[in-house]
Amino acid sequence: MSTPLTVNMPRDLLAGVELGGTKCICILGTGPDRILAQRQIPTREPAETLDRVAETLASWHTEYGSFCALGIASFGPLEAQDHWRKSGRIAATAKPGWSGTDVAGRLGAGLDVPVGFATDVEGAALAEGRWGGARGLDDYAYITVGTGVGVSLIVAGHSAGGFGHSELGHIRVVQRAGEQWSGICPFHGSCIEGLISGPAIAARTGVPAEQLPADHPVWESLAFTLGQLMHILVLATAPRRILIGGGVFQSRDYLFEHIRQTLHSSLGGYRHATELDDLKRYVAPPELGGLAGPLGALALAADAAAAHRHLP
Ligand code: ADP
Ligand code: ZN
Repeated sequence: MSTPLTVNMPRDLLAGVELGGTKCICILGTGPDRILAQRQIPTREPAETLDRVAETLASWHTEYGSFCALGIASFGPLEAQDHWRKSGRIAATAKPGWSGTDVAGRLGAGLDVPVGFATDVEGAALAEGRWGGARGLDDYAYITVGTGVGVSLIVAGHSAGGFGHSELGHIRVVQRAGEQWSGICPFHGSCIEGLISGPAIAARTGVPAEQLPADHPVWESLAFTLGQLMHILVLATAPRRILIGGGVFQSRDYLFEHIRQTLHSSLGGYRHATELDDLKRYVAPPELGGLAGPLGALALAADAAAAHRHLP
């Protein structure tokens, strides 16, 4: 007689879904050291995509036993969120068909477990705190510079937000003396995302961002812009570390030296803290690499499970 697979399954098993613009990654496990299953599904129109994700979760439930929470780390923007309750929608998006889709409601239906729903950036930030470059810290920030610019501020162990998530990638900044580029953000022109996202860098230089040489002047502009963003973060919630990742930083570790310098000169000696004495440690790359997205979904699931346990 064969032994049922579920016998030795961990009781803290979590399920996660990273919903990306081109692909969804479903994951089952407890963290980076224990990933029991992973499955990739192309992101097409919502009904078909979410049906396939739901089928995957249902088949894992049968094969591995019940999981205690589901986390969904989604491309944004997201509508007003009701964290840890069973609804959560994608807001107006250029991605055909997805505006208003109740992703958390659809995937949570019938599972009878707490559902965590947040942006992929928030998920990745929480995963870095749990398993990566911000381990042991309750207050830190995570910036991603890729197709867009995302910022997640973790305060007292939770992602800061009120009626929605942080959108600090869209704040207006000043440009370097002599520079006056109009930027590409459809809402704000030269906000941070409009100035330094991958597509913005390509539009500004006429060359795909990944092909630009290390000594191109656009990197100085990027560092100047990120210096201002970090200046604001330091003054807003005094994070104990700032992690910066995303496609634009791929193989460009040398940018960190520029960025630390711009933060230092932007602050002008105003704020003192031992954290700020060691900028090499303070402004650092994330550690989870390609697993940040799916592990972000697991981190959201873990938080949803914990929040559920503490409900009255
Ligand atoms: P997404 O934001 O969609 O999750 P990524 O974080 O991978 O995706 O970011 C994609 C962006 O990163 C693209 O605009 C691409 O041009 C840019 N990019 C990828 N590799 C590099 C590189 N080595 N240097 C600079 N930019 C890069
Ligand atoms: Zn903008």
